[in-house]
Amino acid sequence: MRKIDMYIGIDIGGTNISCGIIDELGQLVFKESIPSGGNRETIAILDDIAGLINELKSKFVGKINAIGIGVPGIIAKDNDYIYYCPNINFVRVHMKEEIEKRTGLLTFVDNDGNLATLAEHEVGVLKGVKNAVLLTLGTGIGGGIIINDEMLRGANGLSSEVGHMVIGKNDYDCNCGKNGCFESFASASALVRYTEKLLDESKVFSSMRNLKKINAKAIVDAAKTGDKLANESYSRFINYLGIGIVNLINILDPDIIALGGGLANAGEFLTKPLKEKVESLLLIDDFPHAEIKLAKLGNDAGILGAAFLAKKMYKA
Ligand SMILES: [Zn+2]
Repeated sequence: MRKIDMYIGIDIGGTNISCGIIDELGQLVFKESIPSGGNRETIAILDDIAGLINELKSKFVGKINAIGIGVPGIIAKDNDYIYYCPNINFVRVHMKEEIEKRTGLLTFVDNDGNLATLAEHEVGVLKGVKNAVLLTLGTGIGGGIIINDEMLRGANGLSSEVGHMVIGKNDYDCNCGKNGCFESFASASALVRYTEKLLDESKVFSSMRNLKKINAKAIVDAAKTGDKLANESYSRFINYLGIGIVNLINILDPDIIALGGGLANAGEFLTKPLKEKVESLLLIDDFPHAEIKLAKLGNDAGILGAAFLAKKMYKA
């Protein structure tokens, strides 16, 4: 009987560690998630991840070929060494080595934004697109860049940290400690933070004043109903998102810029004003430029991309 080939994809987030298995055709055949407990000792988190993998290994005996892992941090290209990881305790860790030691399975590690981009390029909105950028609008702005059908990884592995390109002076610092980063203006958390500032400082009536907790969705919902304060904050967000995107267009001239993360659920309410903003900032008004589209894979992009990485590298 022919051996069934499967690949595990793991997406490490600040809150959850999600895990999935794809088959040879790239179909997601299994999905599970555990809390990450990101502020615990590194060893405890590594043991949890390895435990999850070993469980799947015994469930699908002899079928798992390799593992891919997406980490929300900066990983050196040559040795899979994690240098920087702001939301989870994985700083200065050789993830590949640690997981291979604990599971006996071939493991590959990459930045989570790169892997979400890989997934969209394999089976999502970027399928068949030669040059593209994915921006995930969440706690920060993650993403990845595809040039000539290949993921851009740079000389050392730092590539695609688009969230930290500096686009202005902000009234608070970015999580990275610097000031003026794209994600400190145009991520979901930036939208929330600025809205809270407006609610604190202005006396304008807003339906959001009745809410216990404000998140990006609540702001979008309020803006849609015409709430003045929500619209002021949302316009600022669109303005800075447009500036960042035009910078990317001027440097990379991609076919498509795709938007993912929770804020992409706003749909046309996001893309319509954004396209107008971007068009107003173009270098040459009528020159052809990147199309702005919504990502397709939602929360599964991370595990799918990690599993596709495992499959790609195993076959290489
Ligand atoms: Zn930054």
